Parts: sequence; structure tokens; C-alpha cells
Amino acid sequence: MKRIPKNKDIQQIYPVFFWKRCDSCGKEFRREYGYKYSYQYYVGYLSVECYVGYLCAECYVKNNSVTKFVKNQIDTRSQPIKGGSVKIFLGGTCNGSNWRQTIISYLDKTKINYFDPVVSDWNKEAQEREIQERKNCDICLYCITPKMTGIYSIAEVVDDSNKRPNKTVLIVLDKDEDKEFNQHQLKSLDMVGQMVMQNGGRYFQSIEHFITYITNLAEIL
Ligand SMILES: [Zn+2]
Repeated sequence: MKRIPKNKDIQQIYPVFFWKRCDSCGKEFRREYGYKYSYQYYVGYLSVECYVGYLCAECYVKNNSVTKFVKNQIDTRSQPIKGGSVKIFLGGTCNGSNWRQTIISYLDKTKINYFDPVVSDWNKEAQEREIQERKNCDICLYCITPKMTGIYSIAEVVDDSNKRPNKTVLIVLDKDEDKEFNQHQLKSLDMVGQMVMQNGGRYFQSIEHFITYITNLAEIL
């Protein structure tokens, strides 16, 4: 059986045989009291890693609060778990496509947050908000459906998969109500998907697969 240890677990220890290296001063200690701490952090929201470290008693006191020390440690590593919340940016095809509603009706039943960039009045304010949200969301999802007319979303997902691979997800749907991509279009979209994956992003060919992925993610938070 495996389990993910509690975030920021701190425990007093008294190592007898093995030297433990203090993460603060770098000195090793044994046969005296010290502290063992652990925390989980995300490697780009795709996988959880657990870090276990030690502090000598002196540094424990000097650092005043281990929580603060750990926080600084986490900040230097990838994205931390933000109190178990994930926010998804819902980018991609608009044009009256219902894919967002499908995902939103699922997300509303979970603790996963989202940002829907579709607004009736596309003004400067909305544009700025979108840029901000795209930067702050933990996952930038781009769902491409045959209702797509413009190709800017494709540029966005490729750009994101280069700049922020760990949070970029592409979904390509072959059908959207009465619309369908032809084989040629699907083939080139699939190549975009492969490109996104090679860059380190995620690529799915159905909303169900994405929901399974996001459900697993929510479970470990
Ligand atoms: Zn120390």
C-alpha cells in the first residue's frame, strides 16, 4: 500500500546511526535531536513528487517556523499544491460549440475551478483578464472541434506547449454536432497533438479521456 504523505509533515527525530544533512546549514548531524520534514509538490501538475528533508535543531530554532522554511523550499521547486485547488483555462473553439458546457457541468461537481474566456462583449478588459487567467491557471486546456473557423487556438496551444509544457493540454474532437473534420484535417491536427506531447504537454482525443485524467488529478490533491 502506498500513500502520499501529508503536506508539510514535520517530525522530531533522533538519528542514532545515520548522519542526516541539515537543509539549512548543510552540516550533518546524529545523536542529537533534529527535524525531518516532507512535502509534496507538483512537477507541472502532471505528477506528484515528495521531498523529504532534514533540519538540525539549531536551524529549526533559527528558522523560527519550519512552515516558512518549507514554503521557501517549495517555491524554489516547481508549482506547489495550492491548498488542493486546480484551475483550468478553457481555451479553444468557440462558435457555439458545447464542449465547454460538457466540461463545466462535470467540473461544477468537483472542487476544480475553471475560467471560461468566452464573453458576449469582447473588449480590452476581457482581453486583459484572459491574458492574466491564461498565465495563472494551472492547466491551459485547448479543445479544438470542427466548429473551429479561425486557427489562432492552434498557434496558442503550440506556443503554450513550448513555454509552459507542464500545464498545456490539447483535446481534438473529430465531431461536433453536425460538423466533422475530414481525414486530412484530422491527420494534421493529430500531428499538432504529437507536437504538443513531444514538447511535454498532454493530448487527448475525447472529452471523456480528459475527464478521467482530471479526475485522477483531483483525487491526489
Ligand atoms: Zn542546520
